[in-house]
Amino acid sequence: MASYFDEHDCEPGPPGPALLQLARTLFQGQELDLSSLDAADWDQRLPPPAARRVVRDLPAVCVTPAQAEKGLKCPVCLLEFEEDERAQKMPCEHLFHSACLLPWLGKTNSCPLCRHELPTDNPEYEEYKKDKVRRQQQEHRLQYLHGAMYT
Ligand SMILES: [Zn+2]
Ligand SMILES: [Zn+2]
Repeated sequence: MASYFDEHDCEPGPPGPALLQLARTLFQGQELDLSSLDAADWDQRLPPPAARRVVRDLPAVCVTPAQAEKGLKCPVCLLEFEEDERAQKMPCEHLFHSACLLPWLGKTNSCPLCRHELPTDNPEYEEYKKDKVRRQQQEHRLQYLHGAMYT
């Protein structure tokens, strides 16, 4: 039997190419056209910016010689980090130049690489997130009940 996590797909998905593309567009200073994403439902919208406090508290790290040796790149601008270069570390452990990451987090709250979400200052969105978790729990309970009755 497949594990719980396989079935419910709780692992972060593979890098979202569309999101990264957006991040690069931003990095290159082009105008972002987000109007197409501006639907009524958060499912269809780019989440709001990351909370300022959280962004301010993101740890700055020094790129280690081992990371530089491996050719670790900033996922936004694709430049390789140099040894001892300062990088901004997301909670998902991904490293970015702060000049690449900060404008992005000013637009939306998730890691451009893996979509790990940071808290936001938007009460409406935070409520939506809680709701989503509740809906998922509800679904799991229903699936569990269904499984208990029919197996
Ligand atoms: Zn960069
Ligand atoms: Zn990440």
